[in-house]
Amino acid sequence: MDVTQIFGTNVFNDEVMRKRLPKDTYQLLKKTIDKEIPLPPEVADVVASAMKDWAIERGATHYTHWFQPLTGSTAEKHDSFISQTTQGGIIMEFSGKQLIKGEPDASSFPSGGLRATFEARGYTAWDCTSPAFLKEDGLGGVTLCIPTAFCSYTGMALDKKTPMLRSMAAVSKQALRVLRALGNKTTNKVTPTVGAEQEYFLVDKKFFAQRLDLIVAGRTLFGASAPKGQEMEDHYFGQIKDRIAEFMKDLDKELWKLGVASKTKHNEVAPSQFEMAPLFTSANIAADQNQLVMETLQKVAIRHNLVCLLHEKPYAGLSGSGKHTNWSLCTDDGMNLLDPGTTPHENAQFLLFLSALITAVDRHAHLLRRSAANSGNDHRLGANEAPPAIISVFMGQELTDILEAISKGKKATSKGLTSIEIGVDTLPPLPLDNSDRNRTSPFAFTGNKFEFRMVASSASISGPCVVLNTIVAEALDEIATRLEKAKDINKETTLVIRDAVQEHGRIIFNGNSYSEEWIKEAEKRGLPNIRSTAEALKTFAEKKAVDLFRKYKVLSKEELHSRREIYLEQYAKQICIEAKAALDMARSLYIPAVLTFVKELAESIEKLETIKGSSVVQRDLLTKVSTLLETSYKNVEQLDTELTKTYEIEDSDKRAAACRDTVVATMNDLRQNIDSLEKIVSRKLWPVPTYADLLFNL
Ligand code: ADP
Ligand code: MG
Repeated sequence: MDVTQIFGTNVFNDEVMRKRLPKDTYQLLKKTIDKEIPLPPEVADVVASAMKDWAIERGATHYTHWFQPLTGSTAEKHDSFISQTTQGGIIMEFSGKQLIKGEPDASSFPSGGLRATFEARGYTAWDCTSPAFLKEDGLGGVTLCIPTAFCSYTGMALDKKTPMLRSMAAVSKQALRVLRALGNKTTNKVTPTVGAEQEYFLVDKKFFAQRLDLIVAGRTLFGASAPKGQEMEDHYFGQIKDRIAEFMKDLDKELWKLGVASKTKHNEVAPSQFEMAPLFTSANIAADQNQLVMETLQKVAIRHNLVCLLHEKPYAGLSGSGKHTNWSLCTDDGMNLLDPGTTPHENAQFLLFLSALITAVDRHAHLLRRSAANSGNDHRLGANEAPPAIISVFMGQELTDILEAISKGKKATSKGLTSIEIGVDTLPPLPLDNSDRNRTSPFAFTGNKFEFRMVASSASISGPCVVLNTIVAEALDEIATRLEKAKDINKETTLVIRDAVQEHGRIIFNGNSYSEEWIKEAEKRGLPNIRSTAEALKTFAEKKAVDLFRKYKVLSKEELHSRREIYLEQYAKQICIEAKAALDMARSLYIPAVLTFVKELAESIEKLETIKGSSVVQRDLLTKVSTLLETSYKNVEQLDTELTKTYEIEDSDKRAAACRDTVVATMNDLRQNIDSLEKIVSRKLWPVPTYADLLFNL
C-alpha cells in the first residue's frame, strides 16, 4: 500500500483546488479560507462546478451538506446532482448557491426551544476552511460531503461547528493582540490546533448481537467480572493480533483516503480496548475529522465482523475510554505559542501564553468539566480511573519552580541555571514530554501543548475545544490590555506571570490526582469537584458563563440555554433507555433463566429425598438463589416505578437529578444481584454472553 498515493484521494484539498480551479478563482477562495472574507457568488459557482466534476469523475452521484447537530453525531441529507433540462432530459448540476447554503427541513433535530415549530427550517452554510470530501458507502455509492455549519433562520447556532468557528475567531483575535503588543508584526492569524486520541473497544459481532444492552445503550448493564481483567497489564501496547491488525490496516486506509492523518495505533489498557491518534490540525478540521474517525471505526469494524464500542464505559471493573484532546495555538507563520522556544523573547511569549492558560483553566474549571460531561463519563470521572472529576493543571516540576519563583518576585531559579530575567535570560531546557510522568492529571502540559484528558470518547470534541478557545481568549484579552498600556514590556510580562500564578496557581497540581489526599487538598484550595452530568450542566446557566460566551460572541444566552436543555434531556433519555433495557433483560432473560435453575434444583431435591439422598448442596444453592432472585425482582419493580415517575417530571434539571439519584442507583442494585446470580446459575442456562466471551474472543 503506497500511502502517499492513497492519502487524501477522497478530499477536495488544496492540491486539487490548485489544479482544477482557474488561477484567480483559486486565489480568491484561498483568501476566503485564510482571511475569512465572504466568498463572492460568482466565485462560488466556479468552485461548485469544479467540485462537482471532480466528484463525478470519482463516481459521485449525490452531494450533501454534512453537519453536526447537537445530537453529537453527524447529519446528512443526500441530493443527487440531477436536474431536468427543458427538453425533458437530465444533466448533472451543482451551483454555487447549492454549495454555499442548504435548507434542510430540520424540525427533528434538537433545538432546545430555539426554533419555533412554525419555523422548522434551518440552514446549513459551507465551512470552506474544512475541505469537502467523498464518502463511499462500501457498495459503490459515492457522495460529495460539504462540511457545513447549521443555524436557525434567525441565525442561532443549532450545531457544534458554529460556536467552534466563532471561538476560533475569538482566540485568534486576542492572541494576535498579545503578539502585537510583544512587537510581532508578521503574524496575521492564530489557530487553535488539536489532535484527538480516540480510544475504543472492539467486540465480536456474534456476541454483540446477543446483548440488548450493548445494542441499545452501548455498554453492558449486567455482567459479572471475568476471571481475568486487566490486572496482568498485558494488553497495553501488547502485540496486536492478526484479526485486529487487519481491521486497523483497513481503518488506516479509509482514514487516509479521507485525508485524516492517522498516525498511531495500539492496544489499550483493558482487554479488547484500542486507541488511534491522528496528526494534529486546526480545531475545526480536527473536530470534523474526529467525527469521521468515529464513523469509520464503526463502519470498518462491521466489515470485519466486529462492532466498535465508543462508549466511555462499556464494561464495569475495567478501564473506560476517553479522548485525550491535545490543544495548542499555532500562528500562520508557523510558531507554536506553547513551545518554550530557545531565546529570551520566545520564552517570555511562552510564559505569557502559559499564564493565560493557568488563568483560564482556574477561572472556568467548571466549564471544562461540563464540556466532558455525559452519562458515560459519569462512570469514569472521579471513579478512580483516569482522570478525577476535579480539574487541575499538571505543569511539571521544572516549570512550576520557574513560575513560583517569578510569582514571588525573585529571579527565577532552576536546576542548572541560577536566575532568569524575563526578556533577558533564557529558560533552562524543559523536558519535552512530561506526560509519561503524570498520567493522572486531567489537564497536562506535555512540553509544547496541553492535553485535556477528560473528554468523553463518544462525544464530539467541539464542546471542549469551544470552551478552551473561549476561556483562553478572555485571559489573553486581559493580558493584551495590560501589555498594550505598559511602558516596559518585560516588566509587565513579569507582573502578568506573577499575578497569574498568585491568583490562579492553586490550579497547578503535579502529584497523583487519583489519591484521596488530593480530593481533600483540592477542596481546601476551593477547586470544584463536580461529580455528575446533572450537576455539571447547571454551569450553562451561571452568569459568569453567560457573560463570557456573550462577550466573545461565541454563544448567546439563548443559545446556551438551548444547549443546556438539550443536554439535560439527552442525559435523561440515555438513562431511561438504559433502564428500559435493564428491565427488559431482567424480565425476559435473567429471571426466567434463574427460574429454570430454581426448578431444576427443586426437582433434584424432591428426587433425592424420595431415595433418602443428601440434598444439602441443592438446598443451600436454592436458598442463595431464591434470596437473590427475590431482591432482583424487587429491584425490577422499583426501577419500573421510578422510571414512570421520572417521565412525569417536567423540569429538566429535576428530571436529570431524579435519573441520577433513583434510576441509576436502582439499576446498580439490580445489576449487583443479577451479577451475583450469574456466578451461581448454571452456565448452560445463562441467557447472554459473559464478560469472558465479550472480552477475550477477538
Ligand atoms: P502521547 O500524548 O500519547 O504522548 P503525542 O505526544 O505524540 O502522544 O501526541 C498526541 C497527540 O497530540 C497527537 O494527535 C498529536 O498530533 C497531537 N499534537 C502534537 N502536537 C500538537 C500541537 N502543537 N497542537 C495540538 N495537538 C498536538
Ligand atoms: Mg496523549
